[in-house]
Amino acid sequence: LRQGLDKTRRNILNQLKSIVGQGPLNQAAVMEIEALLLQADVGVEATDFIIDALQQKLREEVLPPDAAIAYLKQIIRDMLDTPIQKSPKSAFAPEKDTLNIWLMTGVNGAGKTTTIGKLAHLSQKSGYKTLIGAADTFRAAAVEQVKVWGSRSGVEVVSNPGKNTDPAAVVFDAITAAKARNTELLLVDTAGRLQNKKNLMEELSKIRRIIDKKAPNAKVESLLVLDATLGQNGLRQAEVFSQAAQLSGVVLTKLDGTAKGGVALAVVKQLGLPIRFIGAGEGIEDLRPFSSYEFVEALLS
Ligand code: GDP
Repeated sequence: LRQGLDKTRRNILNQLKSIVGQGPLNQAAVMEIEALLLQADVGVEATDFIIDALQQKLREEVLPPDAAIAYLKQIIRDMLDTPIQKSPKSAFAPEKDTLNIWLMTGVNGAGKTTTIGKLAHLSQKSGYKTLIGAADTFRAAAVEQVKVWGSRSGVEVVSNPGKNTDPAAVVFDAITAAKARNTELLLVDTAGRLQNKKNLMEELSKIRRIIDKKAPNAKVESLLVLDATLGQNGLRQAEVFSQAAQLSGVVLTKLDGTAKGGVALAVVKQLGLPIRFIGAGEGIEDLRPFSSYEFVEALLS
């Protein structure tokens, strides 16, 4: 992870060290930290939150450089953990012996298919009976691509080869197959058309209805796959999806390719959603359950 966050760390940490390294933290330094955070795609809300907390602390005590960095880490960790306290599932821990259904959403190119492949691998490796439902029926290549990923980790893919297939019908078939196989984690790929919010909403709510009807006891998650390299621009996409999809968490991808890893803080603060996984590479192993501690250490140490 440290390596994956290298660009972001270099972007933030070196400057941060030179700002706080000059002695006990003062107001001028806090202003410089504010500018640095904004520039690192942390976003206005999360930056305000961090700066307010820092200023509050400064009124109470003198912060030498090490203490300033330690306090900053603590503020960021607490902020990243706030939504997780509402739903305490930060690690890879779907409920055993139950059908968990994870709806994977996100615009084309965000890394959704790759993430499904990585998740299927992680799930299989962690001893869960895993299945993929290829309900991105809009893109012809999507089903093939997801099958390639499935075969890499030996996870079966349920798809419907018919033309103009209804995604909800694929979900129906996938749930039937999941029940027959005692599947514990069903990963559902969905279409990533953002151009038409109404279609997206209708499609996702139809899928939800099928799930509620066919698998009322399943533990359903709706995860948004978000490309970190988009920085603040990605948040706008995320907002559209969060209106359409009752999201329960975010998978932040491509952290390895960007200096904009600070966007993780903005995602949590602005959307109020936990980051569940982070992708930092194109390989099958390059996905990790999100840990605020690990993330902050990788960023600021
Ligand atoms: P989809 O259209 O959302 O399904 O996106 P894909 O899964 O096809 O991914 C789009 C591109 O992003 C591919 O070239 C992937 O290899 C790449 N990609 C996905 N996740 C990551 C990641 O975490 N790091 C890097 N560097 N590339 C990634």
